[in-house]
Amino acid sequence: MRTLSRNIASLSAVLSLTLSSLPALAWHDKTHLSVAEAAGFDLWYSAAAPDVAKSKSEFRPIEEKNHYFNNNAGKEVDAAMVMSQVERYNKPEDGEGHLYGAIIGAIRAYKAEQNSGKYAEYPLAFCAHYVADLSMPLHNTAYDDFNKNRHSINDGIVEGSVRNNLGSIQRNMEDITILNEADLAREIAKVANTARKLGNQIREEQRDMTQNEVYTQLSRSASLLHAVLKYVGKTPASPVS
Ligand SMILES: [Zn+2]
Repeated sequence: MRTLSRNIASLSAVLSLTLSSLPALAWHDKTHLSVAEAAGFDLWYSAAAPDVAKSKSEFRPIEEKNHYFNNNAGKEVDAAMVMSQVERYNKPEDGEGHLYGAIIGAIRAYKAEQNSGKYAEYPLAFCAHYVADLSMPLHNTAYDDFNKNRHSINDGIVEGSVRNNLGSIQRNMEDITILNEADLAREIAKVANTARKLGNQIREEQRDMTQNEVYTQLSRSASLLHAVLKYVGKTPASPVS
């Protein structure tokens, strides 16, 4: 029995070492799907696909920087900072990442493809993914030891139950109106700052997020995604009271 528990202990040590050496992953797949479904995105089942694409080493350099902004300076995010990242969309040479610009970049790609008459829905799947990453505290703060050590566990706080709890996301959704890119940039900054704040708080308190905190963040992402869908002319399925 003692050997067994020692084996389990060493296995979990190896496992946590392996997990913590992986680069930032973001909310796990079911959490991503649930945010997109709660927002009323008809392609919600594709919302984890950007992480699938990222897992191919050939695509990783282009894709991974779209999923976070490390904000090493700890700066308050504003619309100007969001807009300054747009030209870095899909660019690999960027240590800090450019999640905020990627959201706008994906929406521009959607509009461009729509105008060309091609099947245009996939850029929105990328957008849905990035908007969910936006509320994840560890995607908006420095990639320090705290971030590395606690990333995976915080990605998965509600993963086991979230598919049965769409209501917990939808309950706190708010109505947001986006009429132009300036509105969009401002709304992206707002969500980013809530994530930064929570990121600072859990660092100070040396702890993981609670389920409630995660659901609150997911609601913010779903609210923004719902507004984005309306902004690009889709009719999201989900009701926001
Ligand atoms: Zn991601």
